[in-house]
Amino acid sequence: MIINWKEDWLQQKGTKQKSIKKLINRIKKQRTKRLDEWVNQLHSNTFKEIDCLECANCCTTIPPIVNETDVRRITRHLGLPIATFREKYLTKDEDGDQVINASPCPFLLTDNRCDIYEVRPKACRKYPHTDNFEFTKNLDLHLINIQYCPAVFRILLKVENGLPK
Ligand code: SF4
Ligand code: SF4
Repeated sequence: MIINWKEDWLQQKGTKQKSIKKLINRIKKQRTKRLDEWVNQLHSNTFKEIDCLECANCCTTIPPIVNETDVRRITRHLGLPIATFREKYLTKDEDGDQVINASPCPFLLTDNRCDIYEVRPKACRKYPHTDNFEFTKNLDLHLINIQYCPAVFRILLKVENGLPK
């Protein structure tokens, strides 16, 4: 079966916002380890349907947080002095977090691969926070992320269809 995940997401992400908000509020009352286990499976299935290399929307729209461990790891990999890396690639966002200073990300290659994939920031590795038993810890974030990530949107639709009323 061919899944038009991109079209589905673009067409529905606005109109489904209300019902997904309701769903999130419902999940907040039903958080269990079992629910996280189930969503871990939905996450795996969904990322078999969606190829991040065809999407790259997170890398083009959300500057990732870069912590100090990330800075040390990335600069070692790039062979760049930390001060130069900070000046060239980092800024502070409105919350005071240290983030990459441009969108699309300067490390995004033209074929949507990440130029520093092996050493990418932790925030990039963890995104979109729907596996590793993290789903129910990040419910408010998912509500924001449905606008940016078709996988989060798709996972939430699957939860909506499968969650007992
Ligand atoms: S560092 Fe890599 S994974 Fe992270 S936003 Fe940039 S291109 Fe994407
Ligand atoms: S926005 Fe979601 S689906 Fe798209 S590349 Fe990022 S993680 Fe993958």
